[in-house]
Amino acid sequence: MPKAQETVLEIDLKSLEHNYQYLRSKVEPTVKMMAVVKAFAYGSDSVTIAAKLEKAGIDHFAVAYTKEGETLRAGGIEKPVLVLHPQPHNLTLLIDNCLTPSLYSKHILTEFIKTAEALKLKEYPVHININTGLNRLGFGLEEIDQVITLFKNTLAVRLVGIYSHLAASEDLAEKEFTQGQIETFKKASGKILKAFDHKIMRHLCNTSGILNYPEATFDMVRTGIGLYGYGNSAQEDKKLKPVGTLKTIISQIHNIKAEESVGYNRAFIAKRDTTTATLPIGHADGISRIYGKQKTAVLINDKEAPIIGNVCMDMIMVDVTGIECKEGDQVIIFGKERSAEKLANNAGTISYELITSISQRVKRLIID
Ligand SMILES: *Cc1c(COP(=O)(O)O)cnc(C)c1O
Repeated sequence: MPKAQETVLEIDLKSLEHNYQYLRSKVEPTVKMMAVVKAFAYGSDSVTIAAKLEKAGIDHFAVAYTKEGETLRAGGIEKPVLVLHPQPHNLTLLIDNCLTPSLYSKHILTEFIKTAEALKLKEYPVHININTGLNRLGFGLEEIDQVITLFKNTLAVRLVGIYSHLAASEDLAEKEFTQGQIETFKKASGKILKAFDHKIMRHLCNTSGILNYPEATFDMVRTGIGLYGYGNSAQEDKKLKPVGTLKTIISQIHNIKAEESVGYNRAFIAKRDTTTATLPIGHADGISRIYGKQKTAVLINDKEAPIIGNVCMDMIMVDVTGIECKEGDQVIIFGKERSAEKLANNAGTISYELITSISQRVKRLIID
């Protein structure tokens, strides 16, 4: 690994390939895999990640918003891209980029049909989202007959996928609830399948769904966090490899006396003579204020250096008392040597939030 000279997010494509093959091995060979590359591929780089996965044989992609799909197409990605959460105002952009909409309400479904008919499209492929208990997006079970009728009454669109999303697939204490979601999905999707003659794909599982409910993989699975190296359990984390490593360096070292303060609002008061290091990374880079005030630490020469005081916009200060280090030395925030999950948990959040927060100001360095 190269030595960082500034704050950098290293993206290791070998680890991505490893995670993809591991998750692939968890489902039957006939089950298709959809890589979720929303939010810059969970804070990394969506086109780079998608291109690598396309080469490795992924079947499908998913993004949250239409613009994210447009970025993939501009980057040369050719496999189908499902837009999980489109809005009525950019349906033409979605169609122009050959993206597949997930239609989740009567409003967006009728708007999409109207747009497709106006453009004289024939059998444009779409998926629908069924709400089985997450109560976020999706058709209610009582709407299914109407949905079937809307599809039967148009030639412009063709229903090619039905899916739902699990609310607590990582939480085995919620097994009964999840099994209820699986049953509801089977029933609702079964009814729709019966109403049409053509092949319609079903998909339900996210990463933890794949790992905890292998009986519910249906025709395709959607995996996000697992591809990036986190499995929502200590056991799975051991099998996966973090793709992103966030590194920075020491800009300056200070020796301060007991009773002196560090940073804004004097949020750290030294109890003893203290050595501090200032690092060029702050909340504008994605390390939010929740990581400050000694709630978490960074790694310097294999030692934990607690983040002291308030996180600034462009800097953090860490306590390096007793740690052998100098200006210019390497600092690891998270990555292979140091789990983003643990760092996030110490601050009261989860790996998903930490890794997707790394802002576009941080340089991405691709390692293949
Ligand atoms: C984000 C998302 C996923 C990916 O979930 P992971 O837990 O990261 O695997 C799958 N499906 C939907 C609908 C999502 O919004």
